[in-house]
Amino acid sequence: MAIEASETPVGSMVPDGGSSQEPATIRLYGTAVDSIVDGPGLRFAVFVQGCTHACPGCHNPESQPACAGTVESIDSLVASIEANGLVGGVTLSGGEPFEQCAACLVLARRLKERGYGIWIYSGYLYEDLLEGRPDPLAPDLLSCCDVLVDGPFVQELNSYDLTWKGSSNQRVIDLAASRAAGRVVLWQTSDSFPEVPASW
Ligand code: SF4
Repeated sequence: MAIEASETPVGSMVPDGGSSQEPATIRLYGTAVDSIVDGPGLRFAVFVQGCTHACPGCHNPESQPACAGTVESIDSLVASIEANGLVGGVTLSGGEPFEQCAACLVLARRLKERGYGIWIYSGYLYEDLLEGRPDPLAPDLLSCCDVLVDGPFVQELNSYDLTWKGSSNQRVIDLAASRAAGRVVLWQTSDSFPEVPASW
């Protein structure tokens, strides 16, 4: 359920676990309830509003202004995802999810509790996110996610032959394996595909 939009970008910089200060809303560019292009399997894609990267050739330029889009209740968004019994995973994309880090963290934690696999796209690099840039909560959000597709879109490196990414500089990173190894480990398609709902 979309609720009244304001001119204020939605939540960031709240203390970890501080439930009274957790954002209850997230500003969205849109959703795709049955995406097959934002990661493996049938996924619910959440496109957040707002991105400062301004990549030339951006596929969603309307998603860049921070105060556009619609403000959505996170509870309602989770309910919409749960109501879709076919999706086994959720992808957070944009816009830039890490520029609504607190709201995306609340959403990702709730989805993780419910057993969803979570992919996340970012124009920031994994190494910067691990260091808490652009938001101190970035490492916490990463810890809720299974795969990160990182780096800005570079038009000169665009190819339609690439899998799950738009330009060859971007990396599809297996976050659990990277955490365990202490270095970047790329996601291997054969390890996780197909991703299907537990009810299948
Ligand atoms: S990071 Fe993505 S949404 Fe943001 S400007 Fe670049 S291509 Fe567009």
